[in-house]
Amino acid sequence: MTTGSFVTHLEGAIDGIRLPHDQLQTTSGGRPLWVRYDLPAIRAAVTREEVARRPMDLWRYRELLPVESDEHIVTLGEGWSPMLPCPRLGAELGLERLWIKDESQLPTGSFKCRGLALAVSRAKELGVKRLAIPTAGNAGGAMAAYAARAGLEAWVFMPADTPVVNKLEATLYGARAYLVDGLISDCGAVVRAGAETMEWFDCSTLKEPYRLEGKKTMGLELAEQLGWRLPDVILYPTGGGTGLIGMWKAFAELQTLGWLEDEKLPRMVSCQSDGCAPIANAFARGERFADPVANPHTIASGLRVPGAVGDFMILDAVRASGGMALAAAESELTGWTRRAASLEGISICPETAACLAVLEQLVREGAVKPEEQIVVFNTGAAQKYVEVLAEDLPSLPPIDEIDWDEIDWNEIDRAASAGS
Ligand SMILES: *Cc1c(COP(=O)(O)O)cnc(C)c1O
Repeated sequence: MTTGSFVTHLEGAIDGIRLPHDQLQTTSGGRPLWVRYDLPAIRAAVTREEVARRPMDLWRYRELLPVESDEHIVTLGEGWSPMLPCPRLGAELGLERLWIKDESQLPTGSFKCRGLALAVSRAKELGVKRLAIPTAGNAGGAMAAYAARAGLEAWVFMPADTPVVNKLEATLYGARAYLVDGLISDCGAVVRAGAETMEWFDCSTLKEPYRLEGKKTMGLELAEQLGWRLPDVILYPTGGGTGLIGMWKAFAELQTLGWLEDEKLPRMVSCQSDGCAPIANAFARGERFADPVANPHTIASGLRVPGAVGDFMILDAVRASGGMALAAAESELTGWTRRAASLEGISICPETAACLAVLEQLVREGAVKPEEQIVVFNTGAAQKYVEVLAEDLPSLPPIDEIDWDEIDWNEIDRAASAGS
């Protein structure tokens, strides 16, 4: 397709207001916008079989994406992350059919690429020259990369204690990156305050409509990779919640298109750390909106979002799916990161470790059955968290310090047979 999208309009998620999509939009009533498509027209225009013959990236779902003209697509080949069966980790958890969808393999090492590919493409298409973003880490790196790819200017604002790799990548990709003494919400205030004088476009998650559409593609891919069927349960590490909201939207669109083999939708489990669990707290209280957390602390920087602008969209999706929102113990995150990485060889981020700790709890309580099909999203690569992971890993002994006679070979044999 060279020109045109199937977008009909944008719609306020809180107030239902219709807004035109051919101009820059941010929020309505201070809350996010949905992108709406002419789904019957898409159904007539393209089939699942046609999609299956296209290149393996997220642009294979072109009709379900908002970019008007192919020449404005800004891409680094993002999408189509592998679905990896995890038999050893599954056995450890008491599960027969555990899968990880591994987003650590995306261009900047996290799934933030999906959202920023769409946001930057669409901003470019609408004539934006300067982009700004508040970030807990990975989003800033991804925006910097896509801005560089598009030839646009990027301004990145991150908390002073953001992981060092995120600081490096933003500058490496040529962004003007700044440290803010505070949280991602304080960074957001800096971007809002500068909007008028700096004339930049605010790419905060859910403050512009298109990052959500990029993250939606995780749900589209998941369905296609499973033969247009969906798993029983999805566990998703939740910060701003864009990925979870996006997947739920994807499933609804696929249902309307008639592309799913059966009607059953997965139970969506939103996972946080008890160091920052506004969504889990609101879920426990039966509320639709989440109170901001006062002193959030977690090594899973992507989860350090004290108040999400799309809180009600996350909670609505979780409840509609029959799922839940739960917090893992912060103290368990590095242990699960290491256990999962060493059992399966997958580069697990601490955010995903929160999902694994929650999953262990759900299995123990019988809320997840051993034979159910479970998909956990690994949203980022362990390499992006070098300083926190280094604390928990043993340092490597120099060879001349090893006393070979002291090595417990029985222990090594036991570990090897347990792992096979
Ligand atoms: C941003 C981020 C999250 C949270 O994603 P949302 O869709 O905003 O909830 C989880 N994990 C990692 C690695 C992230 O970078």
